[in-house]
Amino acid sequence: MGTNAYLFAEVITVGDELILGETIDTNATGIAVMLRDIGVPVRRMTTVGDRIEDIVDSVTKAVERCDLLIVAGGLGPTMDDITREGVALALSIPLNFSKLAEELIRERFKQLGREPASNNLRQALFPEGADIIPNPVGTAPAFSVRTGACRVYCVPGVPREMRYLMQHTVLPEVQQAVRLQAMAICTLRVAGIGESDLELRISKRLLKQTNPVIGFAAHHGIIDTRLTAYASNNEEAVQALGHMRSEILADIGPFVFGFDGDTVVGALQKLVEATGFRVGFFEDRGLQGAFRIDPSGADGNSWLQSHLVAGLEPAEIRKTHGLQSDNLTVTAPLIAAHLRARYDLDACGLVLSRAVTADAPDNEANTVAVVSVRNGETVVRQYGFGVDSPVGKEWIPNWVMGQMWYRLRTLQEGEFNPHR
Ligand code: ATP
Ligand code: MG
Repeated sequence: MGTNAYLFAEVITVGDELILGETIDTNATGIAVMLRDIGVPVRRMTTVGDRIEDIVDSVTKAVERCDLLIVAGGLGPTMDDITREGVALALSIPLNFSKLAEELIRERFKQLGREPASNNLRQALFPEGADIIPNPVGTAPAFSVRTGACRVYCVPGVPREMRYLMQHTVLPEVQQAVRLQAMAICTLRVAGIGESDLELRISKRLLKQTNPVIGFAAHHGIIDTRLTAYASNNEEAVQALGHMRSEILADIGPFVFGFDGDTVVGALQKLVEATGFRVGFFEDRGLQGAFRIDPSGADGNSWLQSHLVAGLEPAEIRKTHGLQSDNLTVTAPLIAAHLRARYDLDACGLVLSRAVTADAPDNEANTVAVVSVRNGETVVRQYGFGVDSPVGKEWIPNWVMGQMWYRLRTLQEGEFNPHR
C-alpha cells in the first residue's frame, strides 16, 4: 500500500442499473462497512454507468488520491462489462489474455457441467501484471493491480460474489498490508437543539481538527455527532477518541442524551424514573399514532404507552377553557398548559393536527407539537406534514421527546442546584 501514515480508500461501483436507479447500490455501502470494520476509512464513493470513458475518468482520479481502490461491477462476460478495459486504460497497462484465468474459467464451467461461451473467455483478459483472484462463487475471476502508491481491486458486481471475494481475499490482504492501522468511533446522540446552533456551540478548533474528526448526521429531530480517531494501534485510537470526547462534551454536554445506540425515548424514561418527574403525552383524536408506539414495547415504547393520553378532543378543550382562537399555533400551547395543570404534570408533550380542527385557517401549519415544562418556557414547533407521513412519524415524536428530555434535565439541575 502507500507510504501514507494512514490508509485511505475509495470505492467505485459500475453499472447502468445503478445510475438508472433500478438497483440500489448496496455494494458501495457494503464495502464501506467492511473496510470500516478493519479500520480503513473510505474517503469517497463514486458510481458510474457502463461507459468506458467514465470508468477511465473515475479510476484515473481515484488512484491519484487514495492508497486502496475497490471497483465493483462490470466484470461480466458481455459487451457492457468493461471494467477490465477501463482500469487497464486508466492505468496505461495493456490488457493481456491470461492462461491461468482461462483455466480457472474452464474449471468453473466444468464444475457447472457447461461449456464456456466465447464471450466468457473475455473474462480471461487482465491488465498486465495483475494478480488474478479466483472466484469460486461465480464465473468472473477478480483481480488486483498496483499503480504507484495505490492498489486497485476489481471485484464482480453480483453482491454475493463481491462479499465472498472481499471477505476471503481483499480484506485479509489489506489487513496484512496495514496491520498497524486502527480506528475508533463514538457517536454522541444530541437532541433539544438544531444542527446549526449545535455547531456554533462547538469550538472552532475542534471543528477544524482532522484527527480525531467530527462529523454530523442530522436525523429527523436528532443529531448524531460522530467522532472518529485514527491511530497506529487500537489503544492510541481509543485514547485520542476519549480525549476529544471530553472536550466536545464540555461544549455541548447538556444536549447529549446518549451514545451510540441509545434512543431518546430510553434517555427520557431513565431521567423520569431517576427523578420521579411526572410526565404525560397527549395526541388528539384524529392523530392516534403521533407517538409511533410499537405495541411490542421495543425501544422503551411500553413506558411511553403508559404515559400516553390519546383521543383528546381539542375543540372540546378549547370550548371548556374558553380559548377563542382557531389558530393551532396559538391554542396548542394554551391547551398544553391546561393539560399540564389538570393532570398535575412536570412536563407534557402535545401533538395536534389541523385535520381534526377543520375550521382552522388554510395558511396554518398542518401539525403542531408543543412541549410544556414546569418553570420553563413552552416550546412550539409547526410542521407542514402530518404525523401519518414517514417523516412525520419519525420527526414529531423525536422532537417532542428530545425537547422534553432537554428541558427536564435543565429543571432537574435547577432543583438540585441551590445557587440557581
Ligand atoms: P460482474 O462483475 O459479476 O459481471 P456485473 O455488474 O457485470 O458484475 P451485472 O450483470 O451488471 O453484473 O449485475 C449482476 C447483478 O448484481 C445484478 O442483479 C445487479 O443488479 C447486481 N449488482 C451489480 N452491482 C450492484 C451494486 N453496486 N449493488 C447492488 N447490486 C448490484
Ligand atoms: Mg453491470
